[in-house]
Amino acid sequence: MAAPKVAVVGAGVIGLSTALSIVETCPSCSVTVLSDQFSPNTTSDVAAGMLIPHTYPGTPIHVQKQWFKETFTYLFAISNSAEASEAGIHLISGWQVFKNAPKEELPFWSDIVLGFRSMSEAELQKFPQHRFGQAFTTLKCDCPTYLLWLEKRLKATGVQMYTRKVANLWELHSEYNVVVNCAGIGAHQLVGDEKLFPVRGQVLKVHAPWVKNFIRDGDGSTYIYPGIHRVTLGGTREKESWSLSPDPGTTKDIFDRCCSLEPSLCRAQEITVKVGLRPSRWCVRLQQEVLSQGEVKLPVVHNYGHGAGGFSVHRGTAKEAAHLVGECIPALQGSSSRAKL
Ligand code: FAD
Repeated sequence: MAAPKVAVVGAGVIGLSTALSIVETCPSCSVTVLSDQFSPNTTSDVAAGMLIPHTYPGTPIHVQKQWFKETFTYLFAISNSAEASEAGIHLISGWQVFKNAPKEELPFWSDIVLGFRSMSEAELQKFPQHRFGQAFTTLKCDCPTYLLWLEKRLKATGVQMYTRKVANLWELHSEYNVVVNCAGIGAHQLVGDEKLFPVRGQVLKVHAPWVKNFIRDGDGSTYIYPGIHRVTLGGTREKESWSLSPDPGTTKDIFDRCCSLEPSLCRAQEITVKVGLRPSRWCVRLQQEVLSQGEVKLPVVHNYGHGAGGFSVHRGTAKEAAHLVGECIPALQGSSSRAKL
């Protein structure tokens, strides 16, 4: 049988990591990435890239935990290797602080990050407006660097990448045997998913090299995430807003909130503003579907809707999507898809 042709639509963290997982688990496949935008122009480039999971209400916690664990283990290994700086992955320690007692004393991911514990009184003195806190070490991706590293790995394995806007998945049926939909918020239009909605996020990237620890207000509204070169200050969560234009009032508000958590930030320089649309959904859509017209069929695997937590779970969902692609392959033999092989 000739190599099954797989098209992955989307070149954010989900599309690139899914393409890589397919290459690893189905080496007989010929994989192509099709996307209207590549780094540095995706939502994934805007993200802070912190591995602190967001909770998907419609996905069982044990599944989310497994996705996070696989992602953490994968990136932890990279952070311990000579690839760490080229991949833009590093360990980072810090604090999540609360004004009122946290809803969960032990979040589901507390035994996956490193050294999770309650903050000491001495640590809490740094945050006079907060009464409770959790300290831990996690991982952070420098997002554009990590995306370029994924692209480089894909190219090294022979994966083709083309700039192309896909109007509907069926248009790919004559060229590919399996299509994987990793279009992020683009899936709203691409497959007409009304359950998918944007949650707009505005962040500032600043030069403040003295800030070495992350600080996150427990409700996730205000955060300070130091990266390799810049510190990300956030944020906003605006449901159903499609605007990609930075709002100057919001910029000031974010800066003020972050300075109130870490007063030394008032000396930060080179402030740039970024906006991204989190592809949000009740649960990640990770499933197979078969499109058909008459006798002609096109197996599709969806992997989108990662909302505020795409970096935190990307490797876990990519592996699951690659497994679903692998399940489609035997059915191609003897089907109408054979002609494309
Ligand atoms: P995208 O990065 O948007 O990629 C989608 C791709 O599909 C793009 O390449 C696009 O061009 C392509 N595409 C779309 N439609 C089509 C089409 N019709 N034809 C061809 N190509 C198409 N997550 C974390 O885990 N940790 C964080 O700290 C974090 N911080 C964040 C901060 C902000 C401000 C924002 C906005 C998000 C943050 N996130 C974070 C969430 C994270 O960014 C997303 O979950 C993740 O980037 C989603 O990745 P994706 O690949 O699905 O989407």
